[in-house]
Amino acid sequence: MAGAIPTVTLDQEINPWEAQSARFEFAARKLNLEAGLWKMLSTPTREVIVHFPVTMDSGQIDMFTGFRVQHSIARGPCKGGIRYSPEVTLDEVRALASWMTWKCAVVNIPFGGAKGGVICDPKKMSQGELERMTRRYTSEIIDFIGPEKDVPAPDMNTNEQTMAWIMDTYSMHMGHTVTSVVTGKPLNIGGSRGRVEATGRGVRVVCDESLRYLNMPIDGCRVVIQGFGNVGSNAARLMMEHGYKIVGVSELEGGLANPNGIDIHQLIEFKQRNGTIQGFRGAEATPSEELMVSECEILIPAATENMITSRNAGEIKARIVVEGANGPTTAVADEILAEKRIFIVPDILANAGGVTASYFEWVQDRQGYFWKEAIVNEQLETILRDSFDDVVRYAEAHNVNNRIAAYMLAIDRVAFTIKQRGIYA
Ligand code: GLU
Repeated sequence: MAGAIPTVTLDQEINPWEAQSARFEFAARKLNLEAGLWKMLSTPTREVIVHFPVTMDSGQIDMFTGFRVQHSIARGPCKGGIRYSPEVTLDEVRALASWMTWKCAVVNIPFGGAKGGVICDPKKMSQGELERMTRRYTSEIIDFIGPEKDVPAPDMNTNEQTMAWIMDTYSMHMGHTVTSVVTGKPLNIGGSRGRVEATGRGVRVVCDESLRYLNMPIDGCRVVIQGFGNVGSNAARLMMEHGYKIVGVSELEGGLANPNGIDIHQLIEFKQRNGTIQGFRGAEATPSEELMVSECEILIPAATENMITSRNAGEIKARIVVEGANGPTTAVADEILAEKRIFIVPDILANAGGVTASYFEWVQDRQGYFWKEAIVNEQLETILRDSFDDVVRYAEAHNVNNRIAAYMLAIDRVAFTIKQRGIYA
């Protein structure tokens, strides 16, 4: 890809929409994508911005801003999470919505892509404030969501409880219970077994496949995981149980290292009790930036965007990078990692386990018939193994890296559908 991406400023480098567009354009050029389809797919279909009031515990009214961006409905209803964070921007939600389109296409499930977000600081809000904010945000975007329109799910700082509130608010407006309007719900109200750990499970599966592809053993394979939220903690646990040695784990406040492997069961228990991994005795406190560039076979950025940039990519020592988060690597860093011949499993494949299990949840809700956990896990593993295979074969056949292969495969699938459906005008 050398020379393909123009020199950019750091601000441009870390803008997620720029990061998405750079990869899209490179892949579209390689595919010789028709100009009309190119224009269509480089722009989201719908961008909803809402400003709404919430009564805070103090009795005071605060205004919040929320987004829901729908990138494409070509292959089915829109699908994608909702995140709560002070850092949410329209450009970020746009990029995340497009990534959902590509992600669903890579794993070949019948959804388009969307994403939502509310600018807020959930750590400083009470449960009551979060509930009122969630319900009002839901009612502001209610015309645009629905089982056949757009199906939200959890993302950063949202969880099963958030989904239960959205489901309930939507259902109250409809006058009957509509479980399939969101996925990632609690089990007893239409959730799917296996959904909570699905993204982590998918990460483990693509790690297994990468090792097999590169002829490396699981035994003794050292793993560093950056981020210990839903994705990072479940990937760490499932990988340790599968024979990997988790030598480093980090979160925003700092990291932990142990060359003999960290006991992830104990660490999860510690975090449940203390709300942080800081102070855990079974490993040594180590700065997160140091862990990112430490010796290991697999590095898993599983927190947020822009963790691997032009500033640290040159120092990374891992042989394999598996992107548990969305957009953790900038387009400029891609080139540096490529020069170092680091094997990348791109986000739109590596973290697709979550939306794949969401697809199963949506299917189960609509069927009213719920699967055993073993069935969910088995189907999930098959889809991810097959998709990994599709991407690496595509990369070999077209002589591109895995990220561009995944984009090309996805764009090709979406473009094919648009051509088949034709343009309504
Ligand atoms: N937020 C998750 C993602 O980025 C899950 C989306 C979903 O399940 O719809 O893939």
